[in-house]
Amino acid sequence: MTSFQDFGLADPISRALKEENYLTPTPIQAQTIPLALTGRDVVGIAQTGTGKTAAFALPILHRLLEHRVRPQPKTCRVLVLSPTRELSGQILDSFNAYGRHIRLSSALAIGGVPMGRQVRSVMQGVEIMVATPGRLLDMVQSNALKLNSVEFLVLDEADRMLDMGFINDIRKIVAKLPIKRQTLFFSATMPKDIADLAESMLRDPARVAVTPVSSTAERVEQRIIQVDFTAKPAILAQLLKQEPVNRALVFTRTKHGADKVVKGLVKAGIPAEAIHGNKSQNHRERTLVAFRNGDIRTLVATDIAARGIDVDGITHVVNFDLPNVPETYVHRIGRTARAGADGVAISLIAGAEEMGYLRDIERLIRVSLPREDRRTPGSRDAAAPAPQHRAGRPAPRVHAARPNENSPGSSKGPRRRRRGGGNHGVPQANRHESGRPQGGKADGMKADGIQGVAFLHRESRPARKPNRNQRPQH
Ligand code: AMP
Repeated sequence: MTSFQDFGLADPISRALKEENYLTPTPIQAQTIPLALTGRDVVGIAQTGTGKTAAFALPILHRLLEHRVRPQPKTCRVLVLSPTRELSGQILDSFNAYGRHIRLSSALAIGGVPMGRQVRSVMQGVEIMVATPGRLLDMVQSNALKLNSVEFLVLDEADRMLDMGFINDIRKIVAKLPIKRQTLFFSATMPKDIADLAESMLRDPARVAVTPVSSTAERVEQRIIQVDFTAKPAILAQLLKQEPVNRALVFTRTKHGADKVVKGLVKAGIPAEAIHGNKSQNHRERTLVAFRNGDIRTLVATDIAARGIDVDGITHVVNFDLPNVPETYVHRIGRTARAGADGVAISLIAGAEEMGYLRDIERLIRVSLPREDRRTPGSRDAAAPAPQHRAGRPAPRVHAARPNENSPGSSKGPRRRRRGGGNHGVPQANRHESGRPQGGKADGMKADGIQGVAFLHRESRPARKPNRNQRPQH
Protein backbone atom coordinates (compact mmCIF):
# COMPACT_ATOMS: atom_id res chain seq x y z
CA MET A 1 0.00 0.00 0.00
CA THR A 2 1.23 3.44 -0.87
CA SER A 3 2.16 5.76 1.95
CA PHE A 4 2.62 9.51 1.86
CA GLN A 5 6.38 9.00 2.29
CA ASP A 6 6.47 7.23 -1.09
CA PHE A 7 5.58 10.45 -2.85
CA GLY A 8 8.70 12.24 -1.65
CA LEU A 9 6.75 15.35 -0.75
CA ALA A 10 8.74 18.26 0.65
CA ASP A 11 9.32 18.06 4.37
CA PRO A 12 7.05 20.96 5.40
CA ILE A 13 4.19 19.28 3.56
CA SER A 14 4.86 15.88 5.11
CA ARG A 15 4.89 17.48 8.54
CA ALA A 16 1.55 19.14 7.89
CA LEU A 17 0.08 15.82 6.78
CA LYS A 18 1.21 14.18 9.98
CA GLU A 19 -0.42 16.96 11.94
CA GLU A 20 -3.60 16.49 9.92
CA ASN A 21 -3.38 12.83 10.84
CA TYR A 22 -3.33 11.69 7.25
CA LEU A 23 -1.62 8.33 7.41
CA THR A 24 -2.58 6.60 4.21
CA PRO A 25 -3.36 8.23 0.88
CA THR A 26 -6.86 7.67 -0.41
CA PRO A 27 -7.14 5.91 -3.79
CA ILE A 28 -7.52 9.17 -5.71
CA GLN A 29 -4.49 10.57 -3.92
CA ALA A 30 -2.44 7.43 -4.54
CA GLN A 31 -3.22 7.68 -8.25
CA THR A 32 -3.06 11.41 -8.79
CA ILE A 33 -0.17 12.65 -6.66
CA PRO A 34 2.69 10.79 -8.38
CA LEU A 35 1.40 11.81 -11.81
CA ALA A 36 0.82 15.42 -10.88
CA LEU A 37 4.27 15.64 -9.30
CA THR A 38 5.81 14.91 -12.70
CA GLY A 39 4.03 17.95 -14.11
CA ARG A 40 1.53 16.02 -16.20
CA ASP A 41 -2.01 17.13 -16.77
CA VAL A 42 -4.49 14.90 -14.98
CA VAL A 43 -8.17 14.32 -15.55
CA GLY A 44 -9.81 12.60 -12.60
CA ILE A 45 -13.23 11.18 -11.98
CA ALA A 46 -13.72 11.61 -8.29
CA GLN A 47 -16.36 12.99 -6.01
CA THR A 48 -16.15 15.13 -2.93
CA GLY A 49 -15.36 12.95 0.03
CA THR A 50 -12.68 10.93 -1.77
CA GLY A 51 -9.82 13.15 -0.70
CA LYS A 52 -9.45 14.81 -4.09
CA THR A 53 -8.61 18.21 -2.63
CA ALA A 54 -5.36 16.87 -1.21
CA ALA A 55 -4.85 14.93 -4.43
CA PHE A 56 -4.38 18.19 -6.31
CA ALA A 57 -3.25 20.50 -3.49
CA LEU A 58 -0.28 18.43 -2.31
CA PRO A 59 1.56 18.09 -5.64
CA ILE A 60 0.88 21.74 -6.41
CA LEU A 61 2.31 22.85 -3.08
CA HIS A 62 5.33 20.64 -3.63
CA ARG A 63 5.93 22.07 -7.08
CA LEU A 64 5.47 25.63 -5.85
CA LEU A 65 8.13 24.96 -3.26
CA GLU A 66 10.50 23.49 -5.84
CA HIS A 67 10.35 26.68 -7.80
CA ARG A 68 9.84 29.61 -5.51
CA VAL A 69 9.26 32.90 -7.22
CA ARG A 70 7.61 36.00 -5.94
CA PRO A 71 4.20 36.43 -7.60
CA GLN A 72 3.94 39.56 -9.70
CA PRO A 73 1.39 42.17 -8.62
CA LYS A 74 -2.19 41.32 -9.57
CA THR A 75 -1.31 37.77 -10.56
CA CYS A 76 -1.54 34.29 -9.13
CA ARG A 77 0.55 31.19 -9.72
CA VAL A 78 -2.18 28.68 -8.92
CA LEU A 79 -5.79 29.14 -10.00
CA VAL A 80 -8.41 26.80 -8.62
CA LEU A 81 -11.92 27.13 -10.00
CA SER A 82 -14.76 25.62 -8.04
CA PRO A 83 -18.52 25.90 -8.46
CA THR A 84 -19.49 27.44 -5.13
CA ARG A 85 -18.36 29.91 -2.55
CA GLU A 86 -18.29 27.42 0.26
CA LEU A 87 -16.40 24.78 -1.65
CA SER A 88 -13.92 27.46 -2.68
CA GLY A 89 -13.43 28.46 0.94
CA GLN A 90 -12.93 24.87 1.87
CA ILE A 91 -10.34 24.32 -0.81
CA LEU A 92 -8.45 27.37 0.36
CA ASP A 93 -8.56 26.06 3.92
CA SER A 94 -7.08 22.80 2.67
CA PHE A 95 -4.23 24.55 0.87
CA ASN A 96 -3.54 26.55 4.00
CA ALA A 97 -3.69 23.48 6.22
CA TYR A 98 -1.37 21.40 4.04
CA GLY A 99 0.84 24.42 3.44
CA ARG A 100 0.91 25.62 7.02
CA HIS A 101 4.68 25.26 7.23
CA ILE A 102 5.23 27.10 4.00
CA ARG A 103 5.17 30.83 3.62
CA LEU A 104 2.26 31.21 1.24
CA SER A 105 -0.04 33.90 0.05
CA SER A 106 -3.53 33.03 -1.01
CA ALA A 107 -6.80 34.67 -1.86
CA LEU A 108 -10.41 33.77 -2.33
CA ALA A 109 -12.65 35.26 -5.00
CA ILE A 110 -16.19 34.13 -4.44
CA GLY A 111 -19.73 35.35 -4.73
CA GLY A 112 -21.81 37.13 -2.15
CA VAL A 113 -20.11 40.36 -1.14
CA PRO A 114 -18.61 43.41 -2.78
CA MET A 115 -15.41 43.00 -4.71
CA GLY A 116 -13.28 45.74 -3.12
CA ARG A 117 -11.50 43.73 -0.47
CA GLN A 118 -10.97 40.97 -2.91
CA VAL A 119 -9.34 43.28 -5.39
CA ARG A 120 -7.04 44.57 -2.66
CA SER A 121 -6.14 41.04 -1.64
CA VAL A 122 -4.50 40.33 -4.99
CA MET A 123 -2.79 43.68 -5.49
CA GLN A 124 0.57 42.33 -4.40
CA GLY A 125 0.03 39.08 -6.26
CA VAL A 126 -0.66 35.75 -4.58
CA GLU A 127 0.55 32.21 -4.94
CA ILE A 128 -2.86 30.59 -4.69
CA MET A 129 -6.18 31.92 -5.86
CA VAL A 130 -9.35 29.91 -5.34
CA ALA A 131 -12.39 31.27 -7.10
CA THR A 132 -15.81 30.77 -8.54
CA PRO A 133 -15.73 31.45 -12.27
CA GLY A 134 -18.13 34.40 -12.38
CA ARG A 135 -16.32 36.49 -9.81
CA LEU A 136 -12.94 35.60 -11.17
CA LEU A 137 -13.97 36.80 -14.59
CA ASP A 138 -15.27 40.04 -13.11
CA MET A 139 -11.91 40.59 -11.48
CA VAL A 140 -10.08 39.92 -14.68
CA GLN A 141 -12.39 42.15 -16.69
CA SER A 142 -11.92 45.00 -14.24
CA ASN A 143 -8.15 44.60 -14.51
CA ALA A 144 -7.82 43.66 -10.86
CA LEU A 145 -6.23 40.36 -11.82
CA LYS A 146 -4.12 39.13 -14.71
CA LEU A 147 -4.03 35.47 -15.61
CA ASN A 148 -0.84 35.48 -17.63
CA SER A 149 1.27 34.02 -14.81
CA VAL A 150 -0.88 31.05 -13.94
CA GLU A 151 1.28 27.94 -13.77
CA PHE A 152 -1.29 25.56 -12.30
CA LEU A 153 -4.98 25.40 -13.10
CA VAL A 154 -7.39 23.19 -11.19
CA LEU A 155 -11.00 22.68 -12.20
CA ASP A 156 -12.86 21.12 -9.33
CA GLU A 157 -16.31 19.59 -9.71
CA ALA A 158 -16.34 20.40 -13.40
CA ASP A 159 -19.68 18.71 -13.97
CA ARG A 160 -21.33 20.89 -11.38
CA MET A 161 -19.78 23.99 -12.87
CA LEU A 162 -21.30 23.09 -16.19
CA ASP A 163 -24.65 22.31 -14.61
CA MET A 164 -24.59 25.68 -12.95
CA GLY A 165 -24.04 27.38 -16.28
CA PHE A 166 -20.39 28.35 -15.87
CA ILE A 167 -19.27 26.90 -19.18
CA ASN A 168 -18.86 30.21 -20.98
CA ASP A 169 -17.06 31.81 -18.07
CA ILE A 170 -14.70 28.86 -17.88
CA ARG A 171 -13.92 29.03 -21.57
CA LYS A 172 -13.23 32.76 -21.32
CA ILE A 173 -10.94 32.22 -18.34
CA VAL A 174 -9.04 29.38 -19.98
CA ALA A 175 -8.52 31.49 -23.09
CA LYS A 176 -6.63 34.01 -20.98
CA LEU A 177 -4.28 31.47 -19.38
CA PRO A 178 -0.78 30.71 -20.58
CA ILE A 179 -0.68 27.63 -22.79
CA LYS A 180 2.26 26.33 -20.80
CA ARG A 181 0.70 25.33 -17.53
CA GLN A 182 -0.29 22.22 -15.63
CA THR A 183 -4.02 21.50 -15.53
CA LEU A 184 -5.71 19.16 -13.08
CA PHE A 185 -9.33 18.54 -13.91
CA PHE A 186 -11.76 16.79 -11.58
CA SER A 187 -15.34 15.82 -12.10
CA ALA A 188 -17.68 13.42 -10.36
CA THR A 189 -19.04 12.29 -13.69
CA MET A 190 -17.70 12.38 -17.22
CA PRO A 191 -20.57 12.80 -19.69
CA LYS A 192 -19.67 13.89 -23.19
CA ASP A 193 -19.80 17.64 -22.66
CA ILE A 194 -17.43 17.39 -19.69
CA ALA A 195 -15.09 15.12 -21.58
CA ASP A 196 -15.12 17.64 -24.46
CA LEU A 197 -14.31 20.46 -22.08
CA ALA A 198 -11.45 18.45 -20.59
CA GLU A 199 -10.19 17.61 -24.06
CA SER A 200 -10.13 21.29 -24.99
CA MET A 201 -8.06 22.36 -22.02
CA LEU A 202 -5.73 19.48 -21.15
CA ARG A 203 -2.61 18.30 -22.90
CA ASP A 204 -2.05 14.56 -23.06
CA PRO A 205 -3.67 14.06 -19.68
CA ALA A 206 -3.22 11.05 -17.48
CA ARG A 207 -6.58 9.62 -16.49
CA VAL A 208 -7.45 8.57 -12.99
CA ALA A 209 -10.73 7.41 -11.57
CA VAL A 210 -12.12 6.20 -8.32
CA THR A 211 -15.52 4.80 -7.64
CA PRO A 212 -16.18 6.40 -4.31
CA VAL A 213 -19.86 5.85 -4.52
CA SER A 214 -19.67 2.42 -3.06
CA SER A 215 -16.97 3.16 -0.55
CA THR A 216 -18.26 6.30 1.13
CA ALA A 217 -21.40 4.86 2.63
CA GLU A 218 -20.84 1.17 2.67
CA ARG A 219 -20.44 1.08 6.40
CA VAL A 220 -23.74 2.82 7.05
CA GLU A 221 -26.12 0.81 9.14
CA GLN A 222 -29.58 1.72 7.95
CA ARG A 223 -32.65 1.51 10.14
CA ILE A 224 -36.27 2.28 9.41
CA ILE A 225 -38.63 3.14 12.24
CA GLN A 226 -42.33 3.29 11.49
CA VAL A 227 -43.91 5.90 13.70
CA ASP A 228 -47.09 7.91 14.09
CA PHE A 229 -46.69 11.24 12.37
CA THR A 230 -47.35 13.21 15.54
CA ALA A 231 -44.87 11.13 17.52
CA LYS A 232 -41.91 11.98 15.30
CA PRO A 233 -40.54 14.82 17.47
CA ALA A 234 -40.70 12.74 20.65
CA ILE A 235 -39.14 9.70 19.03
CA LEU A 236 -36.39 11.81 17.52
CA ALA A 237 -35.57 13.28 20.93
CA GLN A 238 -35.61 9.80 22.45
CA LEU A 239 -33.29 8.45 19.78
CA LEU A 240 -30.83 11.27 20.18
CA LYS A 241 -30.72 10.63 23.90
CA GLN A 242 -30.40 6.87 23.63
CA GLU A 243 -28.03 6.48 20.73
CA PRO A 244 -24.28 6.95 21.19
CA VAL A 245 -24.36 10.14 19.19
CA ASN A 246 -21.17 12.00 18.51
CA ARG A 247 -22.58 14.23 15.80
CA ALA A 248 -26.07 13.86 14.38
CA LEU A 249 -27.38 15.38 11.21
CA VAL A 250 -31.18 15.45 11.10
CA PHE A 251 -32.85 16.00 7.74
CA THR A 252 -36.17 17.64 7.11
CA ARG A 253 -37.72 18.32 3.76
CA THR A 254 -38.54 21.97 4.43
CA LYS A 255 -36.93 24.93 6.12
CA HIS A 256 -39.96 25.46 8.28
CA GLY A 257 -39.78 21.80 9.27
CA ALA A 258 -36.14 22.21 10.25
CA ASP A 259 -36.96 25.13 12.54
CA LYS A 260 -39.81 23.19 14.12
CA VAL A 261 -37.61 20.20 14.78
CA VAL A 262 -35.00 22.40 16.42
CA LYS A 263 -37.61 23.96 18.68
CA GLY A 264 -38.85 20.53 19.70
CA LEU A 265 -35.36 19.27 20.44
CA VAL A 266 -34.39 22.31 22.45
CA LYS A 267 -37.59 21.91 24.45
CA ALA A 268 -36.62 18.28 25.09
CA GLY A 269 -33.25 19.45 26.42
CA ILE A 270 -31.19 18.62 23.34
CA PRO A 271 -29.16 21.56 22.04
CA ALA A 272 -29.64 21.78 18.28
CA GLU A 273 -29.35 24.30 15.48
CA ALA A 274 -30.92 24.51 12.06
CA ILE A 275 -29.10 25.26 8.86
CA HIS A 276 -31.03 26.16 5.75
CA GLY A 277 -31.42 28.70 3.00
CA ASN A 278 -33.18 31.28 5.17
CA LYS A 279 -30.27 31.54 7.56
CA SER A 280 -27.64 34.16 6.90
CA GLN A 281 -24.23 33.15 5.67
CA ASN A 282 -22.78 34.23 9.01
CA HIS A 283 -25.23 32.11 10.90
CA ARG A 284 -24.52 29.11 8.70
CA GLU A 285 -20.80 29.47 9.21
CA ARG A 286 -21.11 29.92 12.96
CA THR A 287 -23.39 26.92 13.20
CA LEU A 288 -21.07 24.72 11.17
CA VAL A 289 -18.09 25.74 13.28
CA ALA A 290 -20.04 24.91 16.45
CA PHE A 291 -21.03 21.55 14.95
CA ARG A 292 -17.49 20.80 13.90
CA ASN A 293 -16.12 21.79 17.30
CA GLY A 294 -18.67 19.64 19.07
CA ASP A 295 -20.37 22.60 20.77
CA ILE A 296 -23.61 21.37 19.26
CA ARG A 297 -24.02 17.74 18.50
CA THR A 298 -27.24 17.95 16.54
CA LEU A 299 -27.66 19.86 13.35
CA VAL A 300 -31.00 19.97 11.56
CA ALA A 301 -30.77 20.65 7.85
CA THR A 302 -32.64 20.69 4.61
CA ASP A 303 -31.12 18.77 1.74
CA ILE A 304 -30.00 21.90 0.02
CA ALA A 305 -28.19 23.33 3.02
CA ALA A 306 -26.72 19.95 3.91
CA ARG A 307 -25.00 19.71 0.57
CA GLY A 308 -22.60 22.21 2.03
CA ILE A 309 -21.75 20.11 5.03
CA ASP A 310 -18.83 17.78 5.01
CA VAL A 311 -17.97 17.30 8.62
CA ASP A 312 -16.12 14.17 9.60
CA GLY A 313 -17.38 12.25 12.58
CA ILE A 314 -21.10 12.40 11.87
CA THR A 315 -22.15 9.24 13.62
CA HIS A 316 -25.88 9.51 12.94
CA VAL A 317 -27.99 10.70 10.08
CA VAL A 318 -31.66 10.88 10.95
CA ASN A 319 -34.28 11.30 8.27
CA PHE A 320 -36.99 13.09 10.17
CA ASP A 321 -38.80 13.24 6.84
CA LEU A 322 -38.06 10.82 4.09
CA PRO A 323 -37.05 12.56 0.84
CA ASN A 324 -39.35 12.16 -2.13
CA VAL A 325 -36.36 11.77 -4.45
CA PRO A 326 -34.68 8.44 -3.69
CA GLU A 327 -31.21 9.60 -4.71
CA THR A 328 -31.46 12.24 -2.03
CA TYR A 329 -31.69 9.50 0.57
CA VAL A 330 -28.45 8.03 -0.66
CA HIS A 331 -26.84 11.41 -0.60
CA ARG A 332 -28.05 12.02 2.94
CA ILE A 333 -26.70 8.78 4.36
CA GLY A 334 -23.39 9.42 2.64
CA ARG A 335 -22.88 12.21 5.19
CA THR A 336 -22.02 9.65 7.81
CA ALA A 337 -19.47 6.84 7.76
CA ARG A 338 -16.84 9.12 6.30
CA ALA A 339 -13.10 8.76 6.69
CA GLY A 340 -13.27 5.13 7.68
CA ALA A 341 -15.81 5.52 10.46
CA ASP A 342 -19.00 3.57 10.93
CA GLY A 343 -22.29 5.38 10.73
CA VAL A 344 -25.95 4.89 11.44
CA ALA A 345 -28.81 6.21 9.32
CA ILE A 346 -32.24 6.15 10.91
CA SER A 347 -35.39 7.05 9.00
CA LEU A 348 -38.67 7.90 10.68
CA ILE A 349 -41.53 6.90 8.47
CA ALA A 350 -45.16 7.90 8.92
CA GLY A 351 -48.07 7.43 6.57
CA ALA A 352 -48.60 5.92 3.17
CA GLU A 353 -46.79 8.67 1.32
CA GLU A 354 -43.49 8.10 3.09
CA MET A 355 -43.92 4.38 2.72
CA GLY A 356 -44.11 4.93 -0.99
CA TYR A 357 -40.89 6.94 -0.82
CA LEU A 358 -39.31 4.09 1.12
CA ARG A 359 -40.21 1.64 -1.60
CA ASP A 360 -38.62 3.92 -4.19
CA ILE A 361 -35.47 4.10 -2.08
CA GLU A 362 -35.28 0.37 -1.66
CA ARG A 363 -35.72 -0.07 -5.37
CA LEU A 364 -32.86 2.32 -5.99
CA ILE A 365 -30.43 0.82 -3.51
CA ARG A 366 -31.63 -2.70 -4.24
CA VAL A 367 -31.85 -3.55 -0.62
CA SER A 368 -34.77 -4.19 1.62
CA LEU A 369 -34.24 -2.33 4.87
CA PRO A 370 -35.19 -3.78 8.24
CA ARG A 371 -38.07 -2.05 9.96
CA GLU A 372 -38.99 -1.40 13.53
CA ASP A 373 -42.61 -0.58 14.29
CA ARG A 374 -43.20 2.03 16.98
CA ARG A 375 -46.68 3.03 15.89
CA THR A 376 -49.42 3.14 18.48
CA PRO A 377 -51.83 0.30 17.81
CA GLY A 378 -55.06 1.71 16.43
CA SER A 379 -53.55 5.04 15.38
CA ARG A 380 -54.21 6.53 11.95
CA ASP A 381 -50.67 5.83 10.83
CA ALA A 382 -50.83 2.28 12.11
CA ALA A 383 -53.77 1.75 9.77
CA ALA A 384 -51.57 2.53 6.78
CA PRO A 385 -50.33 -0.57 5.05
CA ALA A 386 -46.87 -1.62 6.14
CA PRO A 387 -44.46 -1.76 3.26
CA GLN A 388 -43.37 -5.21 2.36
CA HIS A 389 -40.11 -6.31 3.79
CA ARG A 390 -38.94 -8.81 1.29
CA ALA A 391 -37.60 -11.61 3.38
CA GLY A 392 -34.47 -13.49 2.56
CA ARG A 393 -32.53 -10.57 1.16
CA PRO A 394 -29.50 -9.11 2.84
CA ALA A 395 -30.39 -5.85 4.42
CA PRO A 396 -28.76 -3.46 6.75
CA ARG A 397 -25.37 -2.66 5.31
CA VAL A 398 -25.38 -1.68 1.70
CA HIS A 399 -23.08 -0.28 -0.86
CA ALA A 400 -24.83 2.98 -1.00
CA ALA A 401 -23.88 5.42 -3.64
CA ARG A 402 -23.51 9.13 -3.33
CA PRO A 403 -25.54 10.19 -6.28
CA ASN A 404 -23.71 12.12 -8.84
CA GLU A 405 -24.38 15.77 -9.06
CA ASN A 406 -26.43 15.31 -12.18
CA SER A 407 -28.88 13.06 -10.49
CA PRO A 408 -32.45 14.22 -10.18
CA GLY A 409 -31.99 14.72 -6.50
CA SER A 410 -29.05 16.96 -6.84
CA SER A 411 -28.96 18.94 -9.99
CA LYS A 412 -29.25 22.62 -9.69
CA GLY A 413 -31.32 25.08 -11.52
CA PRO A 414 -29.54 27.87 -13.27
CA ARG A 415 -29.81 31.46 -12.29
CA ARG A 416 -29.44 34.61 -14.23
CA ARG A 417 -26.66 36.71 -13.00
CA ARG A 418 -27.28 40.31 -12.11
CA ARG A 419 -24.56 42.64 -13.21
CA GLY A 420 -23.18 44.94 -10.58
CA GLY A 421 -25.64 43.74 -8.03
CA GLY A 422 -23.08 43.02 -5.36
CA ASN A 423 -23.89 39.40 -5.63
CA HIS A 424 -20.36 38.15 -5.83
CA GLY A 425 -17.61 36.93 -3.67
CA VAL A 426 -16.55 37.35 -0.14
CA PRO A 427 -13.04 38.52 -0.66
CA GLN A 428 -10.39 37.14 1.55
CA ALA A 429 -6.71 37.41 1.48
CA ASN A 430 -4.94 34.91 3.55
CA ARG A 431 -1.28 35.34 4.15
CA HIS A 432 0.40 33.31 6.76
CA GLU A 433 3.79 32.58 8.03
CA SER A 434 5.60 29.37 8.50
CA GLY A 435 4.31 27.40 11.43
CA ARG A 436 1.16 29.38 11.81
CA PRO A 437 -1.78 27.28 10.72
CA GLN A 438 -4.65 29.20 9.21
CA GLY A 439 -7.86 27.34 9.44
CA GLY A 440 -7.26 23.67 10.00
CA LYS A 441 -9.21 21.35 7.86
CA ALA A 442 -8.88 17.73 8.83
CA ASP A 443 -12.48 17.46 9.84
CA GLY A 444 -13.50 20.50 7.95
CA MET A 445 -16.88 21.17 6.57
CA LYS A 446 -17.11 20.65 2.90
CA ALA A 447 -19.12 23.33 1.42
CA ASP A 448 -21.29 23.41 -1.55
CA GLY A 449 -24.51 24.49 0.00
CA ILE A 450 -24.47 28.17 -0.67
CA GLN A 451 -25.78 27.75 -4.11
CA GLY A 452 -28.83 26.57 -2.24
CA VAL A 453 -30.07 30.02 -3.06
CA ALA A 454 -29.86 28.95 -6.64
CA PHE A 455 -32.28 26.17 -6.23
CA LEU A 456 -34.40 27.10 -3.32
CA HIS A 457 -37.29 26.68 -5.65
CA ARG A 458 -36.43 23.04 -5.89
CA GLU A 459 -36.69 22.25 -2.26
CA SER A 460 -40.02 20.54 -2.70
CA ARG A 461 -40.17 20.16 -6.43
CA PRO A 462 -38.67 17.60 -8.71
CA ALA A 463 -35.53 18.65 -10.47
CA ARG A 464 -35.42 20.11 -13.93
CA LYS A 465 -32.55 19.58 -16.26
CA PRO A 466 -30.64 22.82 -16.05
CA ASN A 467 -29.73 24.90 -19.02
CA ARG A 468 -25.99 24.73 -19.31
CA ASN A 469 -25.69 27.87 -21.37
CA GLN A 470 -27.17 30.25 -18.92
CA ARG A 471 -24.78 32.29 -16.86
CA PRO A 472 -25.27 31.66 -13.17
CA GLN A 473 -25.42 34.14 -10.39
CA HIS A 474 -22.31 33.73 -8.37
P1 AMP B 1 -12.19 15.83 0.00
O1 AMP B 1 -12.71 14.76 -0.91
O2 AMP B 1 -10.94 16.43 -0.50
O3 AMP B 1 -13.24 16.82 0.26
O4 AMP B 1 -11.84 15.15 1.42
C1 AMP B 1 -12.80 14.56 2.24
C2 AMP B 1 -12.36 14.48 3.68
O5 AMP B 1 -11.33 13.50 3.85
C3 AMP B 1 -11.78 15.77 4.23
O6 AMP B 1 -12.32 15.97 5.50
C4 AMP B 1 -10.30 15.53 4.30
O7 AMP B 1 -9.70 16.26 5.35
C5 AMP B 1 -10.23 14.04 4.57
N1 AMP B 1 -9.02 13.40 4.01
C6 AMP B 1 -8.52 13.60 2.77
N2 AMP B 1 -7.45 12.81 2.57
C7 AMP B 1 -7.27 12.09 3.69
C8 AMP B 1 -6.33 11.08 4.08
N3 AMP B 1 -5.38 10.64 3.27
N4 AMP B 1 -6.46 10.56 5.31
C9 AMP B 1 -7.45 10.97 6.14
N5 AMP B 1 -8.37 11.91 5.84
C10 AMP B 1 -8.30 12.47 4.62
